[in-house]
Amino acid sequence: MRIQISESQFKTLSEVVKKNNKVECKCGHSWDLSDGGKDPYICHECGRDNEKKKDETAKYIKCRNCNKKFTQTIYKNKKSTPVCPTCGTVNKD
Ligand SMILES: [Zn+2]
Ligand SMILES: [Zn+2]
Repeated sequence: MRIQISESQFKTLSEVVKKNNKVECKCGHSWDLSDGGKDPYICHECGRDNEKKKDETAKYIKCRNCNKKFTQTIYKNKKSTPVCPTCGTVNKD
């Protein structure tokens, strides 16, 4: 059996697929992946990277030189040196 759908039905189906591409952040903010821009997994409310779900200990740092956000990983309660991957500035407190 072959199923034929009209163009409007196809559009509806496409929209459903898009809606399933949502990112939900722990802070309660959610958004469409397609609306996320360059970093679709980064929450615009709290700055959390929702792509790396395993890396719960990662901390967000905003580079004081280029203002780009990057993660500082904490290994065995020891913080790694917060070096900006974009410009190489060491962002120490
Ligand atoms: Zn958030
Ligand atoms: Zn930087």
